[in-house]
Amino acid sequence: MTSRDSKQWLIDEYKNVVEKGFDWQLRRLNGPSTPRCNIEGKEVIMLCSNNYLNLSNHPKIREAAIEAVKTHGAGSGSVRAIAGNLDLHEDVETILPEFKGVEASLVFQTGFAANAGMIPPMMNKGDLIISDELNHGSIIDGVRLSKADKAVYKHNDMGDLERVLKEWDNKAERIIIITDGVFSMDGDMAPMDKITDLAEEFGAMTYVDDAHGEGVVGEGGRGIVSEFKLEGRVTIEMGTFSKALGVVGGFVSGSQDIKNFGINKARTFLLSGSHPPAVAASQRASLEVMMNEPEHHKNLWDNIKYFQKELISQGYDCGDSASAITPVIVGESHKAKALSNALFEEGIFALPIVFPMVARDKARIRTMMNAGLTREQLDEALRAFEDCGRKLEIL
Ligand SMILES: *Cc1c(COP(=O)(O)O)cnc(C)c1O
Repeated sequence: MTSRDSKQWLIDEYKNVVEKGFDWQLRRLNGPSTPRCNIEGKEVIMLCSNNYLNLSNHPKIREAAIEAVKTHGAGSGSVRAIAGNLDLHEDVETILPEFKGVEASLVFQTGFAANAGMIPPMMNKGDLIISDELNHGSIIDGVRLSKADKAVYKHNDMGDLERVLKEWDNKAERIIIITDGVFSMDGDMAPMDKITDLAEEFGAMTYVDDAHGEGVVGEGGRGIVSEFKLEGRVTIEMGTFSKALGVVGGFVSGSQDIKNFGINKARTFLLSGSHPPAVAASQRASLEVMMNEPEHHKNLWDNIKYFQKELISQGYDCGDSASAITPVIVGESHKAKALSNALFEEGIFALPIVFPMVARDKARIRTMMNAGLTREQLDEALRAFEDCGRKLEIL
């Protein structure tokens, strides 16, 4: 008999992350995610939720969820391909392409499932996937599951992307360029116009993960393709209901051919139960709110611009943000952690992002704006940033 270690390894693994300071401490939110909410019993201004448009507790969306439970029950009973394709799911896929201005959309359980399910079957042996070095983990996992060759280009570096395209031009059959639309660490945007031009020059496909851009950038929050006016030129736009749209669920938008392909080939779509009725009805209501109540999108941008301008005038470095994510870059990891703790004491909830998530000298507080924050609340948060920054000798 071998003496296999079936238990100690778990304890060792955990000890290891704790020693490095990389363990996650889950914070408990009591009640709904609102601009001012309750974390661990403390009233705080929420600055680290992806609920950018403040829709997660919107009365019409809540009402839609409650109503769907009454008419359709709690669960869907199956995967969509067998017996779990509800009228409510199809309603979402009727309205979503209208909102996006595309031929068709396909909804997945999550954005993660969309990337992990769509990318692998699209690209086979002999094909090439080209990926921005800062792409989201769900893209990285999707790429890993594919049998295609892989190449990475420097973040948003079009010269480097062109170098990769030239190098592989005669070696690869099909090529796809995959990028985040808005990058989650800096809130900066991919130069989608230039990526699309290069893709067309080399006959490559394009896939943009617009998880942080959907509902935020583009006309009325229609996303990055709308932002750059690239309608009809991007092969796949992937988005999520879990961030600005306030619900949960991923989706891909593009041609009817893309939808047909996803339904028949994406294993995360085929082999996993469909959304409960309340989720599908909330998604639809969220899209209706997007189309009928433009004020949320406008408020969001008014807040983003005000908050960024004031932080910069206090002397903070806010990087290259073009979205609802504003990094407040403070340098060493310990400074970012200390600032986050001090802010929490003052009733501001904003988390630090430190090495290895970002470079050693680029540790930051990552703030996420919310359309529902009032000017008074923003001023309260700004005062705390200034006071804490002075006390900790960051400013
Ligand atoms: C959040 C996020 C996802 C995952 O979306 P979910 O719907 O929450 O699973 C995928 N890509 C990017 C870039 C994200 O930020």
